[in-house]
Amino acid sequence: MSGVYTETLNKLIEEFSKMPGIGPKTAERLAFYILKAEQTEAMALAEAIKDVKTKIKRCQICYNYSEQPICSICSDPRRDKNLICIVEQPKDVIALEKTGTCKWVYHVLGGHIAPLEGIEPEHLTIDKLVERIRTGNVQEVIMATNPNMAGDGTVLYISSLIKSTGVKITRLARGLPTGTTIEYASGKMLTDAIIGRQELD
Ligand SMILES: [Zn+2]
Repeated sequence: MSGVYTETLNKLIEEFSKMPGIGPKTAERLAFYILKAEQTEAMALAEAIKDVKTKIKRCQICYNYSEQPICSICSDPRRDKNLICIVEQPKDVIALEKTGTCKWVYHVLGGHIAPLEGIEPEHLTIDKLVERIRTGNVQEVIMATNPNMAGDGTVLYISSLIKSTGVKITRLARGLPTGTTIEYASGKMLTDAIIGRQELD
């Protein structure tokens, strides 16, 4: 099939087909859409792609996505900086924020510990988290990693590192069914899990 199109069009189809949920047919359709679109529309898309890769960085405190050195949550004076909610991914922050019940700040790990996949603690922002807890006045750390083996293992590892600081460590309530991820849990489920969070012993 690739001989049918020009080299440039093939390249665009190939790039689209790398995206999640995009099969070869959809990739072809999208590429033709761009080809036929107005110049300004196609350029706006190209510009938007360039901007997310050049303007969006990690917050220097919580490692969430931000266009400023410090993100809007970390710089919000109404947030309780003594409560740190630990999540795996920036998407989890969005899911939790949608509940409208969070007054805390976050720490985004950048994933979970999974030695079989080659993800060791040093690949995550765990050392930065420990430093935040040791140097700040943190009172409670809320573990909001996903309720699965990798999420639980990550919680255990972090707990073992910070236990000696005397900080209170809680975990979102088990109302979240095992296998669910924070990202896809409903707002009601998350709110219940936040309210019912329990202290780890
Ligand atoms: Zn931040």
